[in-house]
Amino acid sequence: MSDVTTSFPLETGRPFIDARAALRWAHRTHGDAVCVTASFGDATLAHLANDTIPGIEITLLDTGYLFAETEWFADTMRDRFDLNIRIVRPAADLERDVWQTDTDACCAARKVEPLQQALQNRDVWVTGLRRDDSPSRRSAPLAHVDLLKNVVKVNPLVSWSDADVANYAAQHDLPEHPLTDRNYESIGCWPCTRPVQDGADARSGRWADSEKTECGLHL
Ligand code: SF4
Repeated sequence: MSDVTTSFPLETGRPFIDARAALRWAHRTHGDAVCVTASFGDATLAHLANDTIPGIEITLLDTGYLFAETEWFADTMRDRFDLNIRIVRPAADLERDVWQTDTDACCAARKVEPLQQALQNRDVWVTGLRRDDSPSRRSAPLAHVDLLKNVVKVNPLVSWSDADVANYAAQHDLPEHPLTDRNYESIGCWPCTRPVQDGADARSGRWADSEKTECGLHL
């Protein structure tokens, strides 16, 4: 695995340029061993990745509890932008509705384990994580070695503000997830996602009735 400390493009302070540079670096240095994951809560990462590296594989982790609107949105994005989407699902024999009693166990089985499967034989994991998502993500780097997952983790959008995301969407005439205008600012599984109150951070609607803030993918 490459040493990112010497070969990775540094942040320039220009988010759009950093994002494309990061994606090009990943593809140039690791080719097909790059795994881009997108949740299709919005169009940004999937479009940016495909626009920068046409045909790059984009992985959707389908927990079995995605909103029907998210499935529709991913299909719409695939058809409109000719995306190369890979869908990774959890094991078929999982107990159902564990989210009702143990969200950590449910996320482990339906998100974390499928991600490990998706990252098999991959060197680089590209995510849509942004510092503006929530207070716990404020210090996220553009790239680092993820020792637990044994990959270089690249976050091309890490320094993008909400305004940057909106500008990019306007520039490229991107469609909007159908739940966005109903105040769903961060969209995960339907049992664990609520609309966000005005002024609250985007991820405050996730596991809103508990202390949980992350599913485990980004820990
Ligand atoms: S977000 Fe909720 S439904 Fe989705 S995997 Fe985690 S606990 Fe299960």
